[in-house]
Amino acid sequence: MNCCPKCFNDDLASKLAAASGRAGFGVCDACGAQGVELYKVVPESELADRFEDLLDIYTPVANVANGIEHGPAGSLWKMFTSTWDVFSGIGEIGFYKLIKALFPGDNRISSMIENDVTIAPERGTRSLSEFAFFGSRTWDDFADEIKYHHRYSAHIENRSNLDNLLRALTRKIDSTSSPWYRARIWNDKTSNPSEIELYEPGRDKAAEGRMSPKGVCCLYIASSPKTAMAEIRAAVHDEVAVATMRPKIDLQVLDLSRIDRISPFSADVDSAALAANLDNLSRIKEELVRPMRSSDDAVEYVPTQFIADCAKRLGFDGIGYDSVMYTGNNEHGYNIASFCGAKEFFVFEGIERFRIAGIDYSVHRA
Ligand SMILES: [Zn+2]
Repeated sequence: MNCCPKCFNDDLASKLAAASGRAGFGVCDACGAQGVELYKVVPESELADRFEDLLDIYTPVANVANGIEHGPAGSLWKMFTSTWDVFSGIGEIGFYKLIKALFPGDNRISSMIENDVTIAPERGTRSLSEFAFFGSRTWDDFADEIKYHHRYSAHIENRSNLDNLLRALTRKIDSTSSPWYRARIWNDKTSNPSEIELYEPGRDKAAEGRMSPKGVCCLYIASSPKTAMAEIRAAVHDEVAVATMRPKIDLQVLDLSRIDRISPFSADVDSAALAANLDNLSRIKEELVRPMRSSDDAVEYVPTQFIADCAKRLGFDGIGYDSVMYTGNNEHGYNIASFCGAKEFFVFEGIERFRIAGIDYSVHRA
């Protein structure tokens, strides 16, 4: 049997499939795509190993141990696709063909294909909530605790699962690749600002933000001059100074843009921990990238400041995220909240001044 690149919407899954060996071009046995490059489906391959791990969270509902809480039951196809969004062209029939070809003669897999299954990891001996960051609580419960009850000792049931999933989001920012930009409103000035005036605010001036509490310094930089200007909310006719800068060393940032798209096929991701926290991860992303407004109450930032602090504790140099303030025609702005300061860790390559000539508003009714 063969599969193809069109079977999956997960890049890593396609790569693992390709690594099993190529079989020329033709019609895909799994998804039916025509004239595509074919990959051999091989048992005991890396693709099979990863699928085994993804399938490990399911158990035939009749085999779940007494007292283990579980959610709804259904066919393996239904349960698998309601957890893992990894297929593009593969439908139900192709899925079963693929699984049978990856695990020939495997009794556990056959029993899951023939019977209704539910999510109960480790052959039905654990419930999924045992793997969730906040146990049986939701992100909102945790946010409530840290905002209003235990600011400095809020409880996380599965700290190591949180740490491991955050580590899976590492992105290297190469010191030799494209430069980064930082903007500052610079109205009615006769000369350019000095580098120092584009450093991050010091301890006495560092304001409350989603990524850092008051008093904690954080250097915000952007992937393009326009993104940097949009992030500081420069208005029409404002004059703006924009510094071009480059990190002196490679930075390892926590890439939030992928937080709700962690591939379950990466070898260092535990599938039960990921499945248990898919909702938590998308809630964390939603909160971290929401633009700040002047009417915000600073207490609302506490939960995300906590997550940013976890990233810092894990040794990340900063947090990267897509800009919600700037999306150009061919460009999606990207920002980094860097824990590494401008003076020590960045080289300035120039400072230019601009006047904002116009801003495109795109609006929808509130
Ligand atoms: Zn295919």
